[in-house]
Amino acid sequence: MIPKSVNVLGREYQIEVEQHLPNMFGYCDYENLLIKIKADQQPAMELDTVLHEILHAIDYSMNTELEERQIYCMTVGILSVLKYNQPLLEYLYKATKK
Ligand SMILES: [Zn+2]
Repeated sequence: MIPKSVNVLGREYQIEVEQHLPNMFGYCDYENLLIKIKADQQPAMELDTVLHEILHAIDYSMNTELEERQIYCMTVGILSVLKYNQPLLEYLYKATKK
């Protein structure tokens, strides 16, 4: 289940699932703090899209000016590391829990 919102460096983005997003799987609206995710994607694809849009939000806040390919590659890389290193994921979860 996709969370309803995500805090990115102090900015609270609302996450909305949208039935009709022509020609895209998601997008990040920085001015309105809104991330839209296309409905009915396969779970792995949806996860990729959510993290992809969050990385766009981080990129915007940090002014790193990453290119689309860099966002794509970082998303794939991070998800792969998390997927194949479950102890790391648990460590990150515990270490960052409020
Ligand atoms: Zn993108």
